[in-house]
Amino acid sequence: AKEEGRNTFRFFSTEINTATLGELLLENDLFGALEREELLLHYQPKVDAKTGELIGAEALMRWQHREQGMIAPEQFIPIAEENGLINAFGEWAIRNVCAQQRAWLDAGLMVVPVAVNISAHQFIQQDLPRMLSQVLADYGLPPQLIELELTESLLMRNSSRATAMLQVLRRMHIQVAIDDFGTGYSSLSYLRQFPVQSLKIDRSFVTQIGEHGESIRLASAIIAMAHELDLEVIAEGVENEVQARYLREHGCDQFQGYLYGRPQAADQFVSLLSARHLD
Ligand code: C2E
Ligand code: CA
Ligand code: CA
Ligand code: CA
Repeated sequence: AKEEGRNTFRFFSTEINTATLGELLLENDLFGALEREELLLHYQPKVDAKTGELIGAEALMRWQHREQGMIAPEQFIPIAEENGLINAFGEWAIRNVCAQQRAWLDAGLMVVPVAVNISAHQFIQQDLPRMLSQVLADYGLPPQLIELELTESLLMRNSSRATAMLQVLRRMHIQVAIDDFGTGYSSLSYLRQFPVQSLKIDRSFVTQIGEHGESIRLASAIIAMAHELDLEVIAEGVENEVQARYLREHGCDQFQGYLYGRPQAADQFVSLLSARHLD
C-alpha cells in the first residue's frame, strides 16, 4: 500500500506539471489575443418553444489562435478568469455584440435580443451598469437588445451584492437569466430574492430526457417552480425532438440547442434574421 501511494504521487505530479506548462504557453498568448483581434463571437439562436420562431441569441466567445486554430471557451475563459483578463474580454464581448446589433439595425434587419455571458469577476468587480449604459449609448441601442447570463453559483457566492447589482440592472431594463440552473446547490425558493427574468435549465438535465426518469422529473419540477416565481424558462442543449416535445408539454418557454442551430459566425447568423424578416 505504501509503494502504491508513492507511485500515485509521482503520477499526479507529472500530470500537474504537464498541464501547467501547456496552460502557461496558452496564457502567454492570451495576453495579446485582444490586441491581435483573435477573439470572436458565435451566435446561437433561441427559439419560441411553441412556434419555433427566432426570439433571441446567445453570444459565445471563441479564440482564433494563429497556430492552434479555434479554441473553445472552456479552455481559455478559466485562465482569463484567473489572471484578470476576463474583465477586458467581457467588456469586449458586450461592445462587439452592440456594434453587431447596430450594424444589423442599420442594414434594415429585424434584430433579436442577444445574451452575453458574464463571469463572477466581471459581475462583482467592474462598474458593470455604467459600462453597459455607456456602450448602449455609444451605439444608440435600447437596453432590451442586450441580455446577461449569470451562473447560479455566481449569484450564490455573494448573494447580497448580487441582489443589489441585479436591482440596478432591472432599473436599467436589462434582462438577466440564471444560467446552468440545476447544477448548483441553490433551492428555487432562494431564487426569489434575485430580480431576474429567466432561468436556463442546464444541458445535463435536457440531455438525459428520454434516458433517465429522474432527470425528466427534475426538468419538469424546475419548469413548474420557475413559473411559480414568474420566470421564463429556457432549455439549453436541446438536440432532438423527444427532448423538445417533452419540454414543450411541460411548459418550457424557449429552446436553444443543435436541433435549432449551432453557434455560428455573425455573417451566417444574419441569414436567420433575414429569413424572419421575409415572413
Ligand atoms: P454556456 O453558457 O452554458 O453555453 C452553452 C454551451 O453549450 C456552449 O458551449 C454551446 O455551444 C453549447 N451547446 C449549445 N447547444 C448545444 C447542444 O445542443 N448540444 C451540445 N452538446 N452543446 C450545446 P461553448 O460555446 O463551448 O461555451 C462553453 C461555456 O463557455 C459557456 O457555457 C460559458 O459558460 C462559457 N462562455 C462562452 N462564451 C463566454 C463569454 O463571452 N464570457 C464568459 N464569461 N463565458 C463564456
Ligand atoms: Ca450561457
Ligand atoms: Ca448555459
Ligand atoms: Ca451549460
